Amino acid sequence: MTARNGNQYRTGLADDREVWLGDERIDVTVHPAFAGSLNGMAGYFDYQHKYSDDCLMIDPETGQEHNVSLLRPRNREDIERRHRAFDRLARYSNGMLGRTPDYVNVVLAGHASRQDIYDRSGDPVYFQRLEAYWRLVQEQDLALTHTIVHAAIDKSVGELQGINEELTLRVVERTEQGVVVRGAKMLATLGPIADELYVYPATPIQKGFEEYALSFAIPVASRGVVVVCRDHYGVDMDVADRPFSSRFDEQDAVIIFDDVLVPWDRVFIDGDLGVYNAINAATATGNTQQQTAIRAAVKLEFAYDLCTQMAKVTATDGKPDVASLLGEIYSYLRIARSVVADAENRASDWGGGAFFCHDDISSLRTVLPIWMARVNDIIKTMGSHNLLATPTARAFEDPRLGPLLHKYLPGANGIAPEERARIFRTAWDFAGSALGSRIELYERFYLGSVGRARALDHKKAQAKGETGAFAAMFAEAGIAPVPAPADEFDDVVPTGA
Ligand SMILES: Cc1cc2nc3c(=O)[nH]c(=O)nc-3n(C[C@H](O)[C@H](O)[C@H](O)COP(=O)(O)OP(=O)(O)OC[C@H]3O[C@@H](n4cnc5c(N)ncnc54)[C@H](O)[C@@H]3O)c2cc1C
Repeated sequence: MTARNGNQYRTGLADDREVWLGDERIDVTVHPAFAGSLNGMAGYFDYQHKYSDDCLMIDPETGQEHNVSLLRPRNREDIERRHRAFDRLARYSNGMLGRTPDYVNVVLAGHASRQDIYDRSGDPVYFQRLEAYWRLVQEQDLALTHTIVHAAIDKSVGELQGINEELTLRVVERTEQGVVVRGAKMLATLGPIADELYVYPATPIQKGFEEYALSFAIPVASRGVVVVCRDHYGVDMDVADRPFSSRFDEQDAVIIFDDVLVPWDRVFIDGDLGVYNAINAATATGNTQQQTAIRAAVKLEFAYDLCTQMAKVTATDGKPDVASLLGEIYSYLRIARSVVADAENRASDWGGGAFFCHDDISSLRTVLPIWMARVNDIIKTMGSHNLLATPTARAFEDPRLGPLLHKYLPGANGIAPEERARIFRTAWDFAGSALGSRIELYERFYLGSVGRARALDHKKAQAKGETGAFAAMFAEAGIAPVPAPADEFDDVVPTGA
């Protein structure tokens, strides 16, 4: 097989996967709630062919055509090639789909670029399996989801302590066929409508918890994999009226592994903490975040234009307060683009020949969640009641209602009533609808919480030696440093005892 089209993607989902929506076990290929989501994802597969120059490439070894997101980047040209593909693919949904298959493809390609890390296990078989899997995903153009966050319900103890220890995915048995795993992971976006599930390391694991240090990939339809969907936010409406909710609910789900057998040829890490704790740091920022940052920039570009249209249709574009809001979004867009360009320009070999962007691209991880929520805030601030005074496209065609709507709901600046409604309906779907709200939550958390990311950045800064400015100021002024008061308080008798 080669890069698939939408129909091939749909056909691939016809299996006996266990998917639950509310209290109903459903077949996603025929359930009405999923019709729009499937159209949207099938459209993505067709889109990669429509823009094949950007999205597809020929594998030099196999001669097969595959999505560029599976390219193992080895040099600057590869970074540029990926940029073009990520940008184009993000434009399919204007960045509103976070988990188009290129996302996990990039992760997998990044892992498959780091044989040096996997070989630390001392057994080449683990990397051989991973590379074979990466090749399989290329050949079959599989849509992957991932689920990597431990099911840490009680945050007062460690991620693998107390009740969390019982709940989180772990090995419970080893057989001739493979490992049997039990437990849950949070979450799997695209879970019910992906072909396969890739589990790989997220936060580090301490010695003594090796049975949690796992990486593997299995079909979603594997026996014992239970996919528990959140409420579905897709709607059965015209694209013109609800451009995102009608197509782009990528459906998050909790994955419960109810004693699932993972065949050995799909086990990539099995208890090796050296590999487990290294692979994320060795790939996640410079590799994966090239894709996520470019998607975010495409989305900010769309948001800026959308808000500009909102200002025009209400003739508020000349007002300084509105111009200030528009300029605010544009500044986020420019910073995002600049950080990406800088990190790509400073791309380098991260080890084992893996050529990734500079780690500074991860700075966006701490600000984009805040900017994206702020963009939604701006849309609501600018939009006010207009976001709700928005007839559907068909309402304008009604012989009784149409003329009234044309008379009472025109756009300013000579903009047609239908266009006015379309702009504000799009804005509401972007920021206010059920799906819009879920996408905001996604932006806040999909790469982990901002709190965690900031704490990690601080740790990395200290490790890099990002310190000394304070002492340098006094040294420059000729003022000697104050020595540490070693043992100064040893002789002090505590008072008030
Ligand atoms: C829509 C959506 C889709 C998702 N899709 C996927 C998916 O496909 N696959 C997957 O594996 N995961 C997915 N996730 C899960 C996501 O990775 C986690 O939700 C994310 O890691 C944050 O959850 P947490 O409990 O680990 O947060 P934590 O990092 O524990 O944070 C929880 C809260 O505590 C605060 N906090 C934590 N640490 C600090 C700190 N040091 N300082 C200050 N505040 C702090 C945070 O700000 C936050 O409010 C998804 C999540 C969402 C919302």
